[in-house]
Amino acid sequence: MRKPIIAGNWKMNKTLSEAVAFVEEVKNNVPSTDKVDAAIGAPAVFLAPMVEAAKGSDLKLGAQNMYDKDSGAYTGETSPAMIADLGVTYVILGHSERREYFGESDAFINSKTKKAFEHGLTPIVCVGETLEEREGGKFEEVIKTQVEGGLADLSADQVKQLVIAYEPVWAIGTGKSADEADAQSSCKYVRDVVKGLYGEDVAAAVRIQYGGSVKPENIKEYMAQEDIDGALVGGASLEAASFLKLLEAI
Ligand code: PEP
Repeated sequence: MRKPIIAGNWKMNKTLSEAVAFVEEVKNNVPSTDKVDAAIGAPAVFLAPMVEAAKGSDLKLGAQNMYDKDSGAYTGETSPAMIADLGVTYVILGHSERREYFGESDAFINSKTKKAFEHGLTPIVCVGETLEEREGGKFEEVIKTQVEGGLADLSADQVKQLVIAYEPVWAIGTGKSADEADAQSSCKYVRDVVKGLYGEDVAAAVRIQYGGSVKPENIKEYMAQEDIDGALVGGASLEAASFLKLLEAI
């Protein structure tokens, strides 16, 4: 049985006081980690006070990105060592916005994934096709390339531990969510690619989230699908009440 994981992705939103107020509001209402893993991927500058505010609760924190080096002359970057030292649990890697606006390649995402493990962080590796790719019949080719590239040369144990977020780019922040049968078949395809790379046991263990305009009104339909183990949620994770409703639906 794979434990569901619901992770918020706040992107570049909120102020520090709003971020801490969110944690104060949700932390005592987050369901037990026996049932579901709940996390917020927050801007790096909010992580330390958010970890502090969430102490003693089942709410975990995630970074939205990191560099693939431990330290050094990389002005403006945040290292995995810095993030891990704060008590952060997850790191979102290869989000489509990072691929699109910051030119992140599968090789770079793979390098960051390996680094995240070196520092005890759990990577949430994002994959997903654009509308053009989908309509051009390239879904399988794009997803296979991203999964194989992002997950290259990991150990079976590492792949079992990480989370893959399947997020069709056309469904992110658009209000146009994928229909649940489509999301299921896409997540199953992701699992099949993992099976081809790491075998049946690993594929059966790895958690795959769907992401793309998930909200309290539609999360149950996704969670009812065999190969969907949770959701990566942008807009609907920003308000405490909405985030809690997502968790209550599990
Ligand atoms: C995301 O940011 O990964 C995302 C899925 O956003 P939204 O839920 O707003 O579509």
